[in-house]
Amino acid sequence: MIHLVRVRWKLWLRRRRPVASFCKHCGRDVHDYRAPDDVWEKVEPRIRHGYTLCYDCFCEECGKIGEQTVWDLIDADKNEA
Ligand SMILES: [Zn+2]
Repeated sequence: MIHLVRVRWKLWLRRRRPVASFCKHCGRDVHDYRAPDDVWEKVEPRIRHGYTLCYDCFCEECGKIGEQTVWDLIDADKNEA
């Protein structure tokens, strides 16, 4: 419930001034991460209010659609294609 309040508060704030990117499920500020395109395409339609999820909520949604819920951290700069 507190997550929903936080999301609604940040959505309200965003209409008035720029705010940092935040998770549209739990309202937490997010760090960038990359997800495989095929997995993201399945998760993205499940995001309410926008297109941003924190890593925790991404893993949670992966579990709900039968994808793996544990991902390796890799150096994104070294894997730039
Ligand atoms: Zn989240």
